[in-house]
Amino acid sequence: MNERAPQSLPAVHPEPGLPARVRIWEVGPRDGLQNEAGFVPTPAKAAFVRRLLDAGLPVVEATSLVHPRWVPQLADAEDLLAGLRDDLGERARDLPVLVPNERGLERALALGARHLAVFGSATETFARRNLNRGLDEQYAMFAPVVARATDAGCRVRAYLSMCFGDPWEGAVPLAQVVEAGLRLLDLGAEELSLGDTIGVATPGHVTALVAAFGDAGVGPDRLALHLHDTYGQALAGVLAGLRAGVSTFDTSAGGLGGCPYARSATGNLATEDLVWMLTGLGVEHGVDLDALVATSAWMAGALGRPSPSAVVRALAPGHEAGQEAGPEVGSGADGG
Ligand code: MG
Repeated sequence: MNERAPQSLPAVHPEPGLPARVRIWEVGPRDGLQNEAGFVPTPAKAAFVRRLLDAGLPVVEATSLVHPRWVPQLADAEDLLAGLRDDLGERARDLPVLVPNERGLERALALGARHLAVFGSATETFARRNLNRGLDEQYAMFAPVVARATDAGCRVRAYLSMCFGDPWEGAVPLAQVVEAGLRLLDLGAEELSLGDTIGVATPGHVTALVAAFGDAGVGPDRLALHLHDTYGQALAGVLAGLRAGVSTFDTSAGGLGGCPYARSATGNLATEDLVWMLTGLGVEHGVDLDALVATSAWMAGALGRPSPSAVVRALAPGHEAGQEAGPEVGSGADGG
């Protein structure tokens, strides 16, 4: 057999009717790293964010201002944001940051952040487990956060977890998800990210949920899809979302993050896998795939595990051996 260089980009065959351009919302530094076992040192996190921006990703969610006891992997959020501010200047203020409550909001505003995200649940059980609050109490907690943030001139996104299934409650009715999403949007969030936290969504389910929001007056321009690849369904769900007019998708470079609620190495859809598909469909995304793969290979080498991304594995075989020296990663933090 001849050795062949792998094809580094797919042939382009556009599908009529899809959005011309997609906004990729990169969650690797936050959602990815918070669910990895090791603690990535602050300078390496900053380098990761910088490399993702340099690869052309338009939105890079930087970190989370939850209590360090909840998410020890991101306990350095303040130092990271201050360092990014020194490095990137004003641009750093637009990197989205998660805030759980008013205390987190105050920390974010003190750091100059102007793009924030709150995170709610579509199910009672997960709201109690993740937020220690029932559904009604979660809206009461977020209401002053969103109001104060928008008054301060910040943009606010709302995440909604367990939109397609819940590990304790099982199937989640479409109407229940729509009601929870409407309540978060009514607080003043500009967009709603629909999370498939356990990765069980199939394409028809995505189509049905986007349509249900449409029936309730929320168009696809206000929705993002945050799909997990736990069952290998994420890209199929993205395609269903594209066909329904959704043009914002949350992904994690290299598929970082695993799945916190299933014993699987595969959680967040990998940004590379999305970029490959969008490129082939002729949908604009603005990302340099080679630069992105190199960044994920560097981080995988540091974390000491191969990337779960099929595209990273295809384009950078053996990357976990670390051809490029990665950051040093500690093992002190407990898993998230
Ligand atoms: Mg995720």
